[in-house]
Amino acid sequence: MPAAALSPEIMAKYEPVIGLEVHVQLLTATKAFCGCANQFGSSPNTNICPVCLGLPGALPVLNEKAVEFATLAALALHCEVRERSIFARKNYFYPDLPKGYQISQFDKPISENGWIEVPTADGTIKRIGITRLHMEEDAGKSLHDGFADSASRTYLDLNRCGTPLIEIVSEPDIRTAGEAVEYLTRLKEILLYTGVSDCNMEEGSLRCDANVSVRPKGQAKLGTKAEVKNVNSFRFIHAALEYEIERQIEVIESGGRVVQETRLWNSTEGRSYSMRSKEQAHDYRYFPEPDLPPLIVSAEFLSETRKKLPELPEARRARMIAEYELNVQDAHTLTASREFADRFEAAARSAKSPRRVANVLLSELGGRLKALGLDQEQSPVSMKGVVMAADLLDAGKISSKQMKQLFDVCFEEGEDFPAVYEREKPEQITDASAIEALIDEVIAANPKQVELYRGGKKTVAGFFVGQVMRASKGQANPALLNELVTKKLEG
Ligand code: ADP
Ligand code: ZN
Ligand code: MG
Repeated sequence: MPAAALSPEIMAKYEPVIGLEVHVQLLTATKAFCGCANQFGSSPNTNICPVCLGLPGALPVLNEKAVEFATLAALALHCEVRERSIFARKNYFYPDLPKGYQISQFDKPISENGWIEVPTADGTIKRIGITRLHMEEDAGKSLHDGFADSASRTYLDLNRCGTPLIEIVSEPDIRTAGEAVEYLTRLKEILLYTGVSDCNMEEGSLRCDANVSVRPKGQAKLGTKAEVKNVNSFRFIHAALEYEIERQIEVIESGGRVVQETRLWNSTEGRSYSMRSKEQAHDYRYFPEPDLPPLIVSAEFLSETRKKLPELPEARRARMIAEYELNVQDAHTLTASREFADRFEAAARSAKSPRRVANVLLSELGGRLKALGLDQEQSPVSMKGVVMAADLLDAGKISSKQMKQLFDVCFEEGEDFPAVYEREKPEQITDASAIEALIDEVIAANPKQVELYRGGKKTVAGFFVGQVMRASKGQANPALLNELVTKKLEG
């Protein structure tokens, strides 16, 4: 374990190599090979039958929806889909696996050779290869705590047995903990957009095992890897990878050798423990599943499935940036979920300036929600309210200060923007001579700025607009104010 942090010089001598194996539960109504409900949170051992319990004589029947979801995910990840793939038995004993084997895929998985593009620290885009995406079923769950007699007993909940999964295995292309988190973020986003999974890490519908090795920089041969399991949040994955990289470098630096092993991450202690070494590793004795025929993905099924692909996050961001003149950061925030992006776009299209809608939504509303720890669904101001505020701003019917005041009322009263606007109807000063009087005062009080402006620094106009707006308590008509300030300064 890293006792003391290694110096940056020593760390820099090595290159970390990371490959991720991600298990994702598919959002089908029923399980992979039987009609039991595929549902998280049911009472223990209620969604079970002879098939998913592996009782003698029970036969599996493949859920076509699971195949569709696996194919959809494979296409979204740029994988090649195999026309004829084979299910295989992966044999091992574990209390939560009553069948004694998991149905998985081995040498002929449904899809291979995909990729995900991630932004890297130096601002470039990097392609991380996906070795394979295959179908398999989940095992049950051992419950080690939460019961009065948990100290002496372990309970089993077999509801999860037979839940359809896809496993997505990356190439060892990842080089830093940050890149690994980027890869997972993109992967999760793509899977959410395609709708194949809810990717809920707390509930275990997205789980990640990380394979890590280090090698001296410049060496082509990969180092010996360790696999870190049980990392159930992106934050923990980052920490577990940084820990593992440093641990391995320290082992090598102190003259030792990294051993191939499986390690378990303990997030409370911020370290991992060896779980089993290679000598104890499993031999799964894979063989073709005799109870299932080969899985055929016909050209027709493939093209039908391809039609169900939504516009994917990266493409959507690029389009929205071009269409609405958004910056990259805002485009990311707006496309964080497909639903949110849909709601934004529907609203933006009805507004005069989509860009203004984005600003109000992200800065005015988003800032407040974030400060209160609320999400969009809990917002007192609806998307319709946001559009109205943006249009009023755009037309110069309210100043940004007035909009802020109206939003304050919305949040205080828990009311939507249109109702508050109708009631409050903030007053506007549209009388040019009244505004001019205020401008004269500000000009008289700020001779230096006037000099700057007349010396060519035209941006100083913004200072005067701000000062006059403040003097008018935010009530000056913005368009008129702008016009008059320029006129006065020029004249
Ligand atoms: P295993 O046979 O131990 O399961 P695989 O070759 O199937 O190993 O690879 C499993 C995962 O480990 C993949 O994501 C792969 O990219 C990654 N991986 C393989 N070798 C290394 C290595 N030397 N260092 C880091 N990751 C590796
Ligand atoms: Zn069942
Ligand atoms: Mg493997």
